[in-house]
Order: sequence, then structure tokens, then C-alpha cells
Amino acid sequence: MNDSSDKRTELSSVGEFTLIKRLMAPFQNSNASTILGVGDDAAVIEHDSDQQLVITTDLLVEGIHFDLSYTPLKHLGYKAVAVNISDVCAMNARAAQIVMSIGVSNRFSVEALEELYAGVHRACGDFGVDLVGGDTSSSIAGMILSVSAYGYVLPEKLVKRSGAQIHDILVVSGDLGGAYMGLQVLEREKEVFRSAPGAQPQLENYAYILERQLKPQPRVDIVDLLEDLGVVPTSMIDISDGLASEVLHLCDSSEKGAMLYEEKIPIAPETIEAAKEFNLDYTTAALNGGEDYELLFTIRPSDWDKIKGNPNFSAIGHITEEHLGTKLITNAGEQVELQAQGWNAFRSKN
Ligand code: ADP
Ligand code: MG
Repeated sequence: MNDSSDKRTELSSVGEFTLIKRLMAPFQNSNASTILGVGDDAAVIEHDSDQQLVITTDLLVEGIHFDLSYTPLKHLGYKAVAVNISDVCAMNARAAQIVMSIGVSNRFSVEALEELYAGVHRACGDFGVDLVGGDTSSSIAGMILSVSAYGYVLPEKLVKRSGAQIHDILVVSGDLGGAYMGLQVLEREKEVFRSAPGAQPQLENYAYILERQLKPQPRVDIVDLLEDLGVVPTSMIDISDGLASEVLHLCDSSEKGAMLYEEKIPIAPETIEAAKEFNLDYTTAALNGGEDYELLFTIRPSDWDKIKGNPNFSAIGHITEEHLGTKLITNAGEQVELQAQGWNAFRSKN
């Protein structure tokens, strides 16, 4: 926690009302659909009867979902919002409001919580959402964050996991595996710090993958881009647990199989470099690493011309009949069953 000032205001010295006021001070609502935000008994949101409401929530528990020894509070606040926005994007919807509840022990100062909310504020600005409410409680130990997001979509634009059809093309946005490699760097630095407190972290060379881990970018832009291109995916999911797991989810929901090609999985040069250094396989990082928050979706073959050549997208395979299973064609030309975890087939490749 890089608290630059020495100032520490104990939570016990301010009332809940004062705390919420201080935390909310920088926030301003920007969406027309936000009728009433923080400050009353409940928030009020305008309901456009043409659109469907998309609701998602995530619970983040210290020690389970985040480690404050290497996650700056500002980044944690940002990420807590980002992962929810990503779930709204995965429905092909646009998020407009969030609510966020916190449970905090007296280990945290008012200034630390302001740092957390600075990240929330930044994310609200970046993704165009209003923070319209929440709840605040003390906890015995550690921090708990709960964020819910509200988004909107026209019924004919809504995309579920279950719509993939045989011959549809599997497409992924951006690149994969970076967030996992960023985590490896952070975990390594934590160990170094443990054995030699005061050691300066060596992080300069890892800017891209650290940013992927600490400041994930939900692909709001892809929802807009798909609309501009006139493409409604047949199915979609965001990549929070790794490509393999998400492909299996899509196939399971759609009752289909899939054929994936290792050589087509988009991986950034920085990710490949780091994987080599850590003696890990970069395909494994992409398949099982997780937290990239890219979008995985399927499109009809007739939509392919609208998408091909766009640098935001990579076609990585296609949908098959369910009984054919979910297969990966490796760079060596082997066909292997895709597995969500315990992927060791490539370990020795580097
Ligand atoms: P109530 O007793 O009705 O739950 P609170 O005092 O908990 O009211 O909350 C007052 C206002 O502040 C409400 O609008 C609530 O949504 C908001 N609020 C409380 N805690 C938070 C928080 N951690 N983040 C954002 N808004 C909050
Ligand atoms: Mg309350």
C-alpha cells in the first residue's frame, strides 16, 4: 500500500455518515438514466421499456480474490468495477450504474479507503458508469468488496452463452495470457521481498503484463465495434478463468463441440517473453491463466467478412457437433481434448 502521506485517520474516529460523504465527494453522475444516486434510502434508475436490464454481481474477499501485499488499493478498486463491467459486456450490453458495498476492519484508515475509491472513481469514468449506492460495514479481519453492475440491451442484441451453432466461428478479442504472467511477476516479487525486506521490486520490464493483471480493461469498445460492424454474436462469454474454461462453458451451454487451433490463439510478445523467463508454456498461460477479461464469442460464417482483418479480433476455431467434443489442434498437429485445468501437455515445450 503505497501511502505517500503519513496521515492516518482511524475509521473509529469518523461516523459512517461522514465516511460515506468523504468517499463519495469526488463522484458525479453522468448517465441520463441515473435519476437518483447515493444519499437516499435507495437509488432510482429510469427504465427504458425498449431495453432489457442486465444485472451482475461479484464478491471479492481479501486473501481469496486479492492479495493486498502486491495489489495497490487504487488498482483493487478499479479492478472490482472492471470485472463487473466485463460481465455486462459479455451479454452484449452497456453498463450504466454500479453499487458497491464494503466490509473493512480497523486495519484500514480513512485515507486507505479514499485510495480504494479513487480507483473506483477512475473506473467509473473510464467505463461511463455511475456509482449509485452501496453499504458500509466493519469486519473482524480483512476487506470484503461487493460490486453489482446494471446494464441495458435491446432484446434482439442480447447475447447468451447458449446460442452457438455448428460451423460458427470462434473469435476472441485482444490477446491472452498476459494477466497470468503479470501475476507470476508479482508473486515472484512478493517472495523476493519476504526474503529481503527493503529490496526494490524489479518491475520495469513487465509494464504490459502487470497492467493486464492490475488494471484489466473490460471490452466496452468491442460491444460498440460489433454494433458498428453490424454483427450480433450467436454466443458470448468474458474470459475470466482462461480460454479453455470459457470455451467449455460456451460449448456446454450451447450443447456443441469445438475445434481450436493453438497457432491461432493471440498472445502478446511480452507474454511470450515472460513465459520463457518463468519456464512456463505461453499457450498454457492463455488457456488456463485467466483474468484477461477479453471477450470470447461465436459468429455466423456469413458474418466473417465483417470481422476478418480487424486487428481487435482473432478467429481461433469453430463450433462442431457436440459428440465431437472440444478439441485443440496443437502446433505439432496433434489433436488433444481441451481441459479446463491441470493442463500439462505442453510443459516441456519451451
Ligand atoms: P441505509 O441505512 O438506508 O442503508 P446508509 O447510511 O447505509 O443507508 O447509506 C446511505 C447512502 O449511502 C445510501 O444511498 C447508500 O446507497 C450509500 N452508501 C452507503 N455505503 C456506501 C458505499 N460503500 N459506497 C457507495 N455508497 C454507499
Ligand atoms: Mg446501509
